[in-house]
Amino acid sequence: EDHLLSGKSHNFVVGVLPCGKQNIASQFCVAAIDISTGLFYLKRGGREHLLSHLQSWAPREIIFPDICLAHPALREILTPWKTAWHSLPKAKFNGISGRQILCDAYDVGTLEGLGDFSIDEITVAGALVDYIKLTQKGKLPRLDPPLQELTQDTLHMDQATAQNLEIFTSATGDFRGSLRYAIDKTATAQGGRLLQQHLMHPLRNIQEIEKRQEMVQYFCERPSLRSDISRLLASVPDGERALSRISLGRASPRDLGMLRDLILISHQMSKKLIREGALPALGQVLCETLTPATAVGDELAAALAETLPLRVTDGGVIRPGYDGALDQLRQLRDHAGDSLAALQERYQAETGIASLKIKNNNIYGYFVEVTQNHSAKLSEMFTHRQTMANAMRFTTDDLSTLAEKIAASEDGALAQEEALFQELCGKVMGVSSALIQAARGIGLVDVCLSHSILACTQGYHRPTLVNEPVFHVEGGRHPVVDAALTRAGNRFTPNDCALSDEHNLWLLTGPNMGGKSTFLRQNALIVMLAQIGAYIPAKSATIGIVDRLFSRVGASDNLAQGKSTFMVEMIETATILNQATKNSFVILDELGRGTSTYDGVSIAWATVEYLHDALQCRAIFATHYHELTPLETTLDRLQCHTLRIQEWEGEIVLLHQVIKGASDRSYGIHVAKLAGLPQPVIKRATQILKMLVQAQTPQMALPLVKTSAGIELQASVDSPRMHPGIALLETLDVDQLSPRQALEKLYEIKAMFPSA
Ligand code: ATP
Repeated sequence: EDHLLSGKSHNFVVGVLPCGKQNIASQFCVAAIDISTGLFYLKRGGREHLLSHLQSWAPREIIFPDICLAHPALREILTPWKTAWHSLPKAKFNGISGRQILCDAYDVGTLEGLGDFSIDEITVAGALVDYIKLTQKGKLPRLDPPLQELTQDTLHMDQATAQNLEIFTSATGDFRGSLRYAIDKTATAQGGRLLQQHLMHPLRNIQEIEKRQEMVQYFCERPSLRSDISRLLASVPDGERALSRISLGRASPRDLGMLRDLILISHQMSKKLIREGALPALGQVLCETLTPATAVGDELAAALAETLPLRVTDGGVIRPGYDGALDQLRQLRDHAGDSLAALQERYQAETGIASLKIKNNNIYGYFVEVTQNHSAKLSEMFTHRQTMANAMRFTTDDLSTLAEKIAASEDGALAQEEALFQELCGKVMGVSSALIQAARGIGLVDVCLSHSILACTQGYHRPTLVNEPVFHVEGGRHPVVDAALTRAGNRFTPNDCALSDEHNLWLLTGPNMGGKSTFLRQNALIVMLAQIGAYIPAKSATIGIVDRLFSRVGASDNLAQGKSTFMVEMIETATILNQATKNSFVILDELGRGTSTYDGVSIAWATVEYLHDALQCRAIFATHYHELTPLETTLDRLQCHTLRIQEWEGEIVLLHQVIKGASDRSYGIHVAKLAGLPQPVIKRATQILKMLVQAQTPQMALPLVKTSAGIELQASVDSPRMHPGIALLETLDVDQLSPRQALEKLYEIKAMFPSA
């Protein structure tokens, strides 16, 4: 139901079947169906693939064989979606019955025409379709043929990467703050859902990507067409969901109205595009899908009333003049009042009782009513029904016949409307594929237009895609941070990035809050946007197609699954180092921060070397371990970059500008101060930092003293190792002190220790 679902998001129920041969938890077949639109995905792959699919589908319900619950590894994999669990008996996952269920669902004798499916895929798809049928009381919604996008056709992103990059939801789980929120300028529900699908499966085929880009460019170059199409899009109803309700036998007259409007608007849209001319290839294909079911469209327009009721039983669905029989019934019903008035007049004249009335109520229906004193004037034709305090009620044969006719015409009109409505639903279902194509065509127009709106309003540009491992971005911005800063009246500092065979690895150091994480993420997001065919937040870019996108940023733990923060960090890093190829794009942020400094530096160091020597993929590695920057001299494809700062009157100003070079400080204490750490902590940290920088061991005893202002640091920053008590001792010329003065000094020194 529209009021229960977000129009712009898919709503998936997912089936999972573990099917590894040696290790059952190593391979999976997964099916996902959105019954509100008929979208049907069927995929197979390893654990990582399963997790990334579940992450992007965000299923509302997951079915799986109940044996999964008894298998620790399988149980662990499914744990994040625990609230959506629905285990089914193993027998429900059966290849033979699965095949039959699918054949019945698509009304075919063999599945070959739908695709090339393995027995495991058929098993899980059959179980899912069967489950849906059960939940829909034996009815099945219209389903697309299962979509089997092959892994090699799309950019793969694991679960952690999609989460870290905040593609669908922000780190806090909100839609606001996600990439999707920032770039979604679509006007229709279909467009919103299609953009979601594009983000779930960015492409790898340059020709396919360029087809979308050409359409975006087409709209960018035609502002007036853009506003005409925007106007049309604003009134496009959610035809996919309307069609799904019709197929489930739950249609409201308004669903038919939606399809009438959809057909009308898609024809208008196609006319506009054809009139504009010079359509790119995708536009031409779109125009063909945008002229669906003309005959059904005309019929709906002729049959349906302008404003439609929620239920057929409310009446008023069919336009007058569409059906002769219905018009007759309606006339009888509508003119019942006239016939009753005529009969009343006749009875008044015949009986001479001017106050005689024909009335009706729910118990007796229609009756003649006269006052008690007139009742004797009535002939035998009037049969007594009821005596009231002042009145008497009668009926006549004529009145009964008329009442029957009225009731029959009312019921008849409703029944006729119901029959016509069902007939129209049947006609619509007969052209459902064309209607779905049209709805999705409108969705694609909407998505391309949405990208063009970003291009025209937020300075997004078309990237050039190539098949070499390069990444040259000029003036790149982070789509989400940029939009947030602009909203707040601030400016985002654009940055360039250049990775190629010559320099495939950037080591990024710089101050805290300098913008390292933002820079890392913005480049990964630019890859994503480029490969969905969108324009990107940059002045220009040449991007080599990426096969897998990896990101390891931020710290989180997964205590529920017995994994500490550091363990999660290491698992994510292991995934990257084991799975990245030369065509992958990797961003790594603050690797090794979750353990001791030496362990951390060592792991970070070795990882940089591995990325450089073994993987040779495009990668940006941000770190606060400045010890790594000399690697630039030994690793010839590594370049050091840093975030520019300006020191001004003892304070630092973060410029958020990425420049060549390395930084030797992180200015963490500066940020700690901004964050409001207590002053004694800041002072002490400054002191310790100074000692560490000078390769001295920090003095262990805390040189805090009690003063009238509270506890304070007393040690001089210039001689940080010196405790003030010791400093005082050193200044004393003991021979010059009287015994009394010596005793006073002793008290003074003693007071300089906090325990005193
Ligand atoms: P840390 O090392 O402390 O994790 P960082 O260097 O990774 O910090 P970010 O988290 O990327 O820094 O950025 C901190 C803040 O700086 C961002 O939230 C954003 O508001 C601002 N910022 C980052 N990059 C830019 C930019 N290019 N232009 C303007 N503001 C920026």
